[in-house]
Amino acid sequence: MLNKSKDNFVVPKGTPQFSSKKKEDFVIVEIYLAKSQGFCAGVASAVDVVENALNKYGAPLYVFHEIVHNTYVVDGFRQRGVVFVEDMDEVPSGERVIFSAHGVPPKVIEKAKQRNLNVVDATCPLVTKVHNEAVKFSSHQFETVLIGHRGHQELIGTAGYVDPNLLHIVETEDDIDQLTIDPNIEVAYITQTTLSVDETKMMIEKLKRKFPRLQAPPRSDLCYATTNRQNSVKELAQICDLIIICGSPNSSNSNRLRETGEKAGCPSTIIDQAQELGMNLLKGKTKIGISSGASVPRVIVDELINRIRQEYRNVVVHEYENPEKNIVFALPDI
Ligand code: SF4
Repeated sequence: MLNKSKDNFVVPKGTPQFSSKKKEDFVIVEIYLAKSQGFCAGVASAVDVVENALNKYGAPLYVFHEIVHNTYVVDGFRQRGVVFVEDMDEVPSGERVIFSAHGVPPKVIEKAKQRNLNVVDATCPLVTKVHNEAVKFSSHQFETVLIGHRGHQELIGTAGYVDPNLLHIVETEDDIDQLTIDPNIEVAYITQTTLSVDETKMMIEKLKRKFPRLQAPPRSDLCYATTNRQNSVKELAQICDLIIICGSPNSSNSNRLRETGEKAGCPSTIIDQAQELGMNLLKGKTKIGISSGASVPRVIVDELINRIRQEYRNVVVHEYENPEKNIVFALPDI
């Protein structure tokens, strides 16, 4: 049963009436937080490694590449004296250097050794698993198709473990059409861990059709965090009329979440910081889904909720127990 206010704005029965004449005062906005979101075990571990190393050794502390792809995390560490480098030559000889969660190619490890650097490897174990598969496939001399985004740090790292003479990087189904490998030989594939689950499935099916003797990794290379977060966004798309993804522009898994929401039929947007959200996007929306990428700290989501609360008086937040709360990776020695 609905009441109608004097300017015909629909108000659910029982909603408190306020003296303000703003329509926003009568709107009930429901926020649904994705079940799986935010820091995955690999990111939490990499962030802890930098935190612990900073506490133990102080600044400056060198990290190869952004430890995780998140502006808030990286800027926070930078302000505390962490120096993010893209080349080992930028690290003074004999200093300590941390490898990011995305992993590095063998030539970076070799260069660190040559420069007598003290290496702490914060590569996610699920990325290392893909590196090991790459080495195994190359040891069998399998032509290896690596599915992923060219230029992404994880792909650069993984590509380094495939024999360069056997490596074929594909980003799209069109790239598979362009492959000129003999279809009668054994061909292997591996993938980046943070791709779209649905697109990757279609690409693998296409590879199977093209290469009947296709060799797969023992288990999917798409990690649990990628799969769970995309499934949770699909659930949000069923009940929400807008999905907001918190994530930085260079975060692969965060961008895939926005695409997942769109493909599931719900308008979806991505923001790096809460203040980036254009409030006009919320106009007419009463069920808002919020998720965040695997590299996004909870504080960004909380700031976003507060920003929505500033605009609407009646905000109800639905939150669920984190199904990943018991997944933890061991920290490397520092
Ligand atoms: S997104 Fe997956 S592969 Fe990447 S750090 Fe997290 S758990 Fe590891």
